Amino acid sequence: MRFLRERKYNIVSLEELTDLIKNKKKIPSGTVAITFDDGYLDNYTHAYPVLKKYNIPATIFVVINRIGRHLGNDDYMSWNQIRELSESGLITIGSHSMNHPNLSEINSEEQLKEEVFESKKILEKELNQEVKFFSYPFGGRSLEARRMVSLSGYKAAVGTNFPKGSPGDDLYALKRLRISENCRNMFIFWVETSGFYTHIKEQRDDY
Ligand SMILES: [Zn+2]
Repeated sequence: MRFLRERKYNIVSLEELTDLIKNKKKIPSGTVAITFDDGYLDNYTHAYPVLKKYNIPATIFVVINRIGRHLGNDDYMSWNQIRELSESGLITIGSHSMNHPNLSEINSEEQLKEEVFESKKILEKELNQEVKFFSYPFGGRSLEARRMVSLSGYKAAVGTNFPKGSPGDDLYALKRLRISENCRNMFIFWVETSGFYTHIKEQRDDY
């Protein structure tokens, strides 16, 4: 986060970025929006203080049925912690579904609706504000899932493994860069944020 600030990246919220794309505005080079998936407890204990320190907006996508739970080696944020983040003005809470299934493996319309629409409704009720963003568990290659997300009233959705050539300007297929532990090395982080490495990987893996 310090690197992004010191290098004068144009750090915007996901909403600002979505509006730029939607209104076909020119996106300044070095524009980034920060997102986190799954709602791990460390988003609250570790990420939030840093985001506050550098005044960096971020969107955190939570899985409804993991909220407040301890599963395997992972702890997830409680409703109270999520509410605090949501009320901070810095953090936007989005939906990452009810149960974190691979949406492309769901055949029932009802079940898909539950994961996509019901999760939005529950979050809105608990946080008392509109939930505008969705993150596809395991990427977002399913067209039915994307259709359901747009029908459910989300403004935009993000994922990781859309087909080659994505995202274009499809607001329901916003592709992200995965920032892994390797990015402790700031050179690797810089290469990742350039988007160039993702381009190379796409050529190699032929998504
Ligand atoms: Zn996830």
